[in-house]
Amino acid sequence: MHDLRAIASLFDMRADFVHAHPYGSGHINDTYCAWYDLSGKRVRFIHQRINHNVFKDPVALMKNVERVTQHALSRLLEANHPEAYRRTLTCIPSVDGSAWAFDADGNCWRTYPFIERARGYDEIESLMQAQEAAKAFGEFQKLTADLGGERLNETIPNFHHTPTRLENLEKAIVAADPDRREAAADLIEFALSRSGDCHKVTDLIESGAVPERVTHNDTKLNNVLLDDVTSEGVCVIDLDTTMPGSVLYDFGDMIRTACPTTREDEVDLRKIDLRTDRLEALLKGYLSSASSFLNQCEIDHLAFSGKLLTLECGMRFLTDFLEGDVYFKIKRPNHNLDRCRSQFALVKAIEKRLPEMEDLVQTIAGRVESAVV
Ligand code: ADP
Ligand code: MG
Ligand code: MG
Repeated sequence: MHDLRAIASLFDMRADFVHAHPYGSGHINDTYCAWYDLSGKRVRFIHQRINHNVFKDPVALMKNVERVTQHALSRLLEANHPEAYRRTLTCIPSVDGSAWAFDADGNCWRTYPFIERARGYDEIESLMQAQEAAKAFGEFQKLTADLGGERLNETIPNFHHTPTRLENLEKAIVAADPDRREAAADLIEFALSRSGDCHKVTDLIESGAVPERVTHNDTKLNNVLLDDVTSEGVCVIDLDTTMPGSVLYDFGDMIRTACPTTREDEVDLRKIDLRTDRLEALLKGYLSSASSFLNQCEIDHLAFSGKLLTLECGMRFLTDFLEGDVYFKIKRPNHNLDRCRSQFALVKAIEKRLPEMEDLVQTIAGRVESAVV
């Protein structure tokens, strides 16, 4: 536990620190909820220590977060949104006026107002939640679509660059311990047989058919806070990986995380399938907010994006297994192998359902369009 009173003193809080406790179920950063006294009223804030093992340049990261949140806030205020300050994260400045502050141990911290009367969910409980989360991610992309100025910093270079992920896998295959390579033989074969898919989206970006946009890149359900009363998506959080990317990465990862019938490391492969009712909910939500700026090529690849991001994720688990389990935390031997097997089973399920998924995309896109016209 860090000394949160000391952290509080680094920021321009304009309220008196009372106490703080670890908060939330995030796996990357250290998150604390801190209570303050503001003229007799209790208010709370989030203090977060950025994990600099994952994010090598926390200042570059915070410059992105600062620009993106300021832009989103000004768009919301211009539109006279009644809850502008609840609809985007906002950075509380440090005492020297930056959006971040370093503690005595060299850790980089940030502070956000606590978004009240809303919370994130680790597991999807209803179609409504999937729809609202997808809508919120679409709104986030829309709010940041016209961010001017320099290109955002890449907080994790080549994060969703699938050809690079494939190269990393190929290198890991060559360098792997022979026993591990043997244990993963069928999965290696599966990945290499899909190598043609790895280039599809990056080729579309290079040709200009798919534009580079500001994307979130970690579009799990628990990174959207849903209103406690209405279940409406209130605020997209966890902006660490917000950087230049394709909307297909964001939507593909929504499919990967929200649509499977099982958990990420399910070992009974027969149980693994893609829930088209969940996909329908995601599409309804996402297209209701994003269809105003998406181009046809992006829409036409939404179903495929689910396959691509699932393949990519499986390849990352496989690479980590071959490298000796150095990146992802494992809870048992072969955990990464099981995770990869499960992701690849989902890829197969998506391949089978792709025509159905494509139809769903076009139907819902058409419906959203005719509702707008
Ligand atoms: P991680 O990268 O570790 O997942 P997050 O930024 O997602 O970190 O934060 C961890 C958790 O803290 C979130 O899942 C959410 O429950 C909570 N949280 C973060 N920011 C806020 C906020 N401004 N208001 C309320 N809760 C928040
Ligand atoms: Mg998170
Ligand atoms: Mg995160």
